[in-house]
Amino acid sequence: MIRPKVQPMKRQGILPLMTLLVSVATGCNQFNSAPRSQAQETSPQSQQLKVVATFLPMYWFTKAVAGDSAKVEVLVPPGTEVHEYQATPQTVQAIATANVLVQNGLGLEEFLEDTVKNAGNSQLQKIDASSGIQPLDQISPIVNTADVDEKHEAGGNPHVWLDPILAKQQIENIKNGLIAADPTHKEAYQANAAAYIKQLEALNQEFTRRMQQYPNCTFVTFHDAYPYLAKRYQLKQVAVVEIPEDQLSPLDVQKAVTAVKQYKVKALFGEPGVDNKLLQSLSQDLNLTLRPLDSLETGSMEPQHYFTAMKANLQTLEAACK
Ligand SMILES: [Zn+2]
Repeated sequence: MIRPKVQPMKRQGILPLMTLLVSVATGCNQFNSAPRSQAQETSPQSQQLKVVATFLPMYWFTKAVAGDSAKVEVLVPPGTEVHEYQATPQTVQAIATANVLVQNGLGLEEFLEDTVKNAGNSQLQKIDASSGIQPLDQISPIVNTADVDEKHEAGGNPHVWLDPILAKQQIENIKNGLIAADPTHKEAYQANAAAYIKQLEALNQEFTRRMQQYPNCTFVTFHDAYPYLAKRYQLKQVAVVEIPEDQLSPLDVQKAVTAVKQYKVKALFGEPGVDNKLLQSLSQDLNLTLRPLDSLETGSMEPQHYFTAMKANLQTLEAACK
C-alpha cells in the first residue's frame, strides 16, 4: 500500500542516487533527466518510513517505538556534544530525505532551525517529544568559577528524558507522531510503545522504592542535567559548578568550596568516562567523592541501554546519598 503523504519524499530520496549513477555512466550531469523507476518506488524498501531522531535518547525512544516498522537514524553521533552541535552537510541531507524528524525540544537542539530550513523538505513531519511537558527553569543556582560563559538554554531545562515518567510522555508523543505519519503500522507502534512504557514504569518504581530512604539528598553537578530526576525522587540538585577547561585558580576552588558548604552538599557528580583532572582535584579540596552520573547523551545505540544506564545512575545515587 502506498501512503500518499510519504510518497513524494521517497522520490526525492531516490533521485540523488540515481542521478549519481547516471552521471557516472555517462560522464556528464543529467540532473533533470534521471528516470524514475516504478519498480523502485513500489518496492517494500521504499515504503518504509524514514525517521531521523536528533540525539541518543530520542534515537532510543524512537527506535523502541518503531521496531522494524520504520527506518530510524540518529543525527548527532553518540559521543558528540548535543548542546553545542554544529550541523554538517550529512545532517542536512539526512533531514532532506526523511519523512519524520523527532526532536527533544525545549531548546536543546539549537542547530535544528537552520538545518531544517537548509534541508528544504516541505513534506517533513516533525515530532516534538516534549510536547505537553511543563519545563523546569533554573531551579539550581549556577556557581560560576572563573570566566565561564553563562549559558541559559531557551525554553527551560531540556533534560526531561532523565525522569522515567517524563520519558513515558516522550514515548507517547513519539508513538502518536509515528502513527499520524504512518497509520498502516499503528498496531506495531502501539505494542512497541506499551512494552517500553512498562519498563519505564518498573524503573520508576525501583527508583522510588530505593531513593525514598534518602530524602533531600543534596548534590552538586557540573552539568545542569538533573533537575527533573531530582524533583521526581525528592533529591536536591543545589548548584551547578561551571568550571573552566584549562585550570582552576585558587579563587575558583574557593567559590566551589563555599557553595558546597552553603548547601550542605552530600555528593559530587561528574560524567562517566570523563577523566577530568580539574574535577578530581576539586573533589579532593572539597573532601567529597566524585562519582559519575550519566546524562545519557552518549552510550550504546541499543534502546535498552536507557535502562542499563539509568540503573547504574540509581546505584551511584544510592552510594552517594548513604
Ligand atoms: Zn545536557
